[in-house]
Amino acid sequence: MSDSLTTKIETPSITYEQPLGLYIDGKFVKGTEGKTFETINPSNEKPITSVYEAGPEDVDIAVKAARKALNGVWAQTMPSVRGQMLMKLADLFDEHIDTLAAIESLDNGKALSMAKVDIGLASGCLRYYGGWADKIHGKVIDTDPETFNYTRHEPVGVCGQIIPWNFPLLMWAWKIGPALATGNTVVLKTAEQTPLSGLYAATLCEKAGIPAGVVNIISGFGKTAGAAIASHMDVDKVAFTGSTVVGRTILQAAAKSNLKKVTLELGGKSPNIVFNDANIEDAISWVNFGIFFNHGQCCCAGSRIYVQSGIYDKFIESFKARTAKNVVGDPFAADTFQGPQVSKLQFDRIMNYIQNGKESGAKLETGGERHGQEGYFIQPTIFSGVSEDMKIMQEEIFGPVCAISKFETEDEVIKKGNETTYGLAAAVHTTDLNTAIRVSNSLKAGTVWVNCYNMLSYQVPFGGFKESGIGRELGKYALANYTQVKSVRMRL
Ligand code: NAD
Repeated sequence: MSDSLTTKIETPSITYEQPLGLYIDGKFVKGTEGKTFETINPSNEKPITSVYEAGPEDVDIAVKAARKALNGVWAQTMPSVRGQMLMKLADLFDEHIDTLAAIESLDNGKALSMAKVDIGLASGCLRYYGGWADKIHGKVIDTDPETFNYTRHEPVGVCGQIIPWNFPLLMWAWKIGPALATGNTVVLKTAEQTPLSGLYAATLCEKAGIPAGVVNIISGFGKTAGAAIASHMDVDKVAFTGSTVVGRTILQAAAKSNLKKVTLELGGKSPNIVFNDANIEDAISWVNFGIFFNHGQCCCAGSRIYVQSGIYDKFIESFKARTAKNVVGDPFAADTFQGPQVSKLQFDRIMNYIQNGKESGAKLETGGERHGQEGYFIQPTIFSGVSEDMKIMQEEIFGPVCAISKFETEDEVIKKGNETTYGLAAAVHTTDLNTAIRVSNSLKAGTVWVNCYNMLSYQVPFGGFKESGIGRELGKYALANYTQVKSVRMRL
């Protein structure tokens, strides 16, 4: 690569200047070792560019910068001013939507139209938390005539944030919004598969007037930079989104180091339940969106589809017909719904699951092959007649593959729906309000959708039951995860 800290990148929709360095203490730098790694375009399997790679020493430098800002400039910044900076950052996301979306489509492979939706949600999230910044306060608590008690909601401190590749900028905003609103500083590591948009967004932090050291964005790998964040003695909290396997290692690292606070947003294998009385066309449209949106690369993907026996055959035929309309191909084409999977590793994992499904006795209804000759494209794939013990019914595939099973009774489907170690999301499709409420209340999941799917809003909390996570993101709930309550008791 060139020795420069930026490079010009041409995408099919725009040409822009891409920062390549680690963004630490308000500057782009090459890192202590000057090491770089390539990021690959999943549509054509060719390198886009190389970015600088953070190692443990760079993490340490970033943490020191975040600590200095926390105790210095950020502590002196009024909450309302923090809020204005987040709102300015949100405006800049909107102004740069064409560039940010093009970067996501290039680096991640998501359809440009969907990437634009992500950026809109990201800016909405930043603005929402900007609004919260000056509304965080404690309480006066009366106990007895001789004391005066009050609570303060103080920032947790320096927050390490580790994000995945499936929604690079949306996860960036979900993490940075509540952390900054509550007065924390951050060291955020992007996923190694998708480092580009997070770095570009760092330039917008600068433009929004966020002081040096408050937001540090580093590119790097999980086992080195990610692990260094999780075990760092001066990081007060880690917020992680990714696989359950890595979530466990983060908890272990926190336990072995300084008992830093940990919030985890992990995987899922979410049941999507369609009752006989559902509006079938409406249900199919949401079931299709539930599994194939973002190429199946959603932690809350509705990958286990339970259909009641009275509509089972009709459902499968109509669902296949609906799926055939999903346009798979070039993320930059206007009508594309599904682009490539993010990486060769993910492509191979998914194809292995498809092979396993074919060999396990499930019925392949449609798909099951790669799409095209180059790029990590996979056909939308539907298996029916899938039993509970099959791997494709139990393990998170994280691709455009779903497993359908038939059920007879409500009790049976609630039992099956809950037979998983995960508990991130679930959905119920029915026109009977009593069924909707009974089943929603019985499913062990952090989010239950009724007659819809994948509807997320920054005002509404999101997170997992069971092994799908710890803590909640979004809404007022996220603020609690970025603050610690201090009780002050004064003797009068
Ligand atoms: P991952 O969990 O390995 O990676 C997610 C993030 O964690 C990345 O930034 C990565 O660099 C970092 N990381 C990896 N190992 C780490 C470690 N030891 N310490 C600290 N940080 C570490 O996920 P993946 O390998 O990219 O994908 C594998 C599977 O994870 C997927 O197939 C899917 O099942 C799941 N996943 C879930 C989500 C989600 O939103 N819940 C997102 C991405 C992946």
